[in-house]
Amino acid sequence: MSRSVFVTGGNRGIGLAVAEALAGDGDRVAVGYRSGEPPKGFLGVQCEVTDPNSVSAAFELVAKEQGPVEVLVANAGITRDTLMLRMDDPTFDEVVETNLKGVFRTVRTAAGGMLAARRGRIVLLSSALGFLGSPGQTNYAATKTALLGLARSLAWELGPRGVTVNLVAPGIIDTDMTKKLTDRRMDGVMKMTPLGRPGTPQEVAAAVRFLASEEASYITGAVLPVGGGIGMGI
Ligand code: NDP
Repeated sequence: MSRSVFVTGGNRGIGLAVAEALAGDGDRVAVGYRSGEPPKGFLGVQCEVTDPNSVSAAFELVAKEQGPVEVLVANAGITRDTLMLRMDDPTFDEVVETNLKGVFRTVRTAAGGMLAARRGRIVLLSSALGFLGSPGQTNYAATKTALLGLARSLAWELGPRGVTVNLVAPGIIDTDMTKKLTDRRMDGVMKMTPLGRPGTPQEVAAAVRFLASEEASYITGAVLPVGGGIGMGI
C-alpha cells in the first residue's frame, strides 16, 4: 500500500536515508528541506520547523500533492554543543525551538489528519546519547529525552484511533552532525559501543521503516535504540 509520508529535514543524513527506504517500499514520500536543494526524486517541501507558518504551509502542500500525511518522521534536529557554564540562553533556546518545539509543531499538524483517518504512524528521532547524558550537550540531551514524554503522552491521546507514536534513539551515526565531534570524543563514545563503530544512516532508516510499517501495529510509546549497543537499557 502506498502511503503519504513526510520526513522533516530529509535533504541529507538520516532523513534522506529514511526517505529513500520508504520510497523504496512504494510510499509517496515528501521531503522537508530548510536550506539548499531538495533531494531529486522526491516531492521537496520547504519546511522550517521553528516557524509555525512554514510547518502549516508544508503540510498543506503535501496534502495537496500526495494526500494527507499518514506517516510522519520528525527528523529535523541540530546540535549546538558547549559546556553548560558557557552556554548562553540563545544557544539553549535554539536547540529547544528546533528539536522539541519543532517536533511538537509538526506532530500537532500531522495528528489531525491521522485522527480523522483513524490510522497513522509517527516516528521521532531521539538520541541514545541524550538518554545516557553527554558532556557539552545539556541542551541537546534535554530535548531528545523530552521527546519521550511527548511521545508517550501522545501515544495515549492517539492510540484509541489507531495512531502509533514511537522514538528511534540512534547512537553515533556517520552524518554531517557527527563530523563536528573531536577524535577524542569519538574514541570515548566508541569505547562505550559494543559494536565498536559508528552506524550508517541506512541502519537507522531500517528501524524507522519498521516502526512506520503495518507490522509495527501493536507498538506505541516505545524507544528503539540503534546505537551498536550503546543504548542498552535505555
Ligand atoms: P544532519 O545534521 O546531517 O541533518 C539535519 C537535517 O535537519 C538537515 O536536513 C537540516 O536541514 C535539518 N534541519 C535542521 N534544523 C532545521 C530546522 N529548523 N527546520 C527544518 N529542518 C532543519 O543530522 P543527522 O541526519 O545526523 O540527524 C537527523 C536526526 O537524527 C536529528 O534529529 C538528530 O538529532 C538525530 N540523531 C542523529 C545522530 C547522529 O549521530 N547523527 C545520533 C542521534 C540522533 P539543513 O540542511 O537546512 O541544515
